[in-house]
Amino acid sequence: MYKQNFKIILSFLLIFLSNFMFSQKKFTIVLDAGHGGSDSGAKRSYSDIGLLAEKDVTLAIVLKVGRMLEKNKDFKVIYTRKYDEYPSLSDRTNLANRSKADLFVSVHCNSAARSTAYGTETYVQGPDQNDTNLEVAKRENDVIFLDEKDKQTFGSYDASSPESLIALKLQQSKYLESSLLLGGLVEGNFVDKDKRFSRGVFQKNLHVLRMNAMPSVLIETGFINHAEESHYLASEKGQDEISESIYNAIIEYKKAVDRKSGGAYATTTKKIEPEKPAEVALKNDFRILLMSAPTKYNDGDPALKGLNYILPIKENGQYKYYYGVTNMSSVKDINIKTAKDAGFRNAFAVGFMPNQKLSMGYYTIEVYVGEKLNGNSFILQTLKDLERNKDSGVFYYTYGKIYTLEDAVNLQKELESKGIKNTVIQKVYK
Ligand SMILES: [Zn+2]
Repeated sequence: MYKQNFKIILSFLLIFLSNFMFSQKKFTIVLDAGHGGSDSGAKRSYSDIGLLAEKDVTLAIVLKVGRMLEKNKDFKVIYTRKYDEYPSLSDRTNLANRSKADLFVSVHCNSAARSTAYGTETYVQGPDQNDTNLEVAKRENDVIFLDEKDKQTFGSYDASSPESLIALKLQQSKYLESSLLLGGLVEGNFVDKDKRFSRGVFQKNLHVLRMNAMPSVLIETGFINHAEESHYLASEKGQDEISESIYNAIIEYKKAVDRKSGGAYATTTKKIEPEKPAEVALKNDFRILLMSAPTKYNDGDPALKGLNYILPIKENGQYKYYYGVTNMSSVKDINIKTAKDAGFRNAFAVGFMPNQKLSMGYYTIEVYVGEKLNGNSFILQTLKDLERNKDSGVFYYTYGKIYTLEDAVNLQKELESKGIKNTVIQKVYK
């Protein structure tokens, strides 16, 4: 009797342990539905199906792929969005890096100047191969320019900047082979299973792929502005087929990777190259503090010594100028060097815990400093509930009360879209 109980407990323990070990080994995959929220991506209206927006198609496909993967215990699925909302491109890549994902799959739809273009394409990170695909890069990267937060986050969009080069170097070689493998499998499934026309697998310098520290692909599932293909993209049948193909490709990819790592472990002979460990994302974001000054400098001011992507934060009457933001240690080091080379000798990195709420006080947006605004001014006409303070004859107008830096940056972005530019985030201790 006693022995029997012990056996039962032991077997429960074994089940528990094996479950635990299993959960440790999960293959984490980030599914990224392109665009979302105010960013519809490619869109076109049709008389029969109405408005077809890329953001809706990509979400539908991603949710279907996710549902299939979630049934498989080997996978852990993380979505960059599950709703009609817009996480910035850096939000998406940061999420992937922080969750130490094994794979990043971004789903998009295509559109072209010619409405006769059709078929599927998959992109992997790499140097641009030629100019014929420039249109595609422009379209997908255009999102960055709509996105102020990313402008501040990644100075690296400019391919001539040092951050860009380091980030590019980091990602390119290490994950290219695996990314190409997955890309080939995705396109292969589209052709063999769904009888689609594949335009191929291409290397492209795309932001959403470049900043990921893992194998990543961006899938263009078809053309929104092609008369027939658009209807396939909009249909349940089309979305089912596309998501099954992507799912199959992921399963085949994992099998191939498992085989490969099995083989690698087995061959423990002479030639063991000391493999550089993959860089792991840091827990905090790091910005480079350039200087504190009582003066507010706008973008392009000579005082900023030609650096872009600067986030000023006002604190106790001083403007602190921060440069860049990253959660990769190597990029942080490069950003410090860039700042010092520009002439900010005392620049140093400051850690910011992502989405941390202020324990005391709040953030607000300083929208205007100067003479008293009159009632007809654009700012007073556009924003209600402005707070006005006067100090030594100068008027300070502030707007909003938020508690995280990320929300403050978003609010700033919102104001900019209303035409209110050159605002400064201010930390208020109260
Ligand atoms: Zn897109």
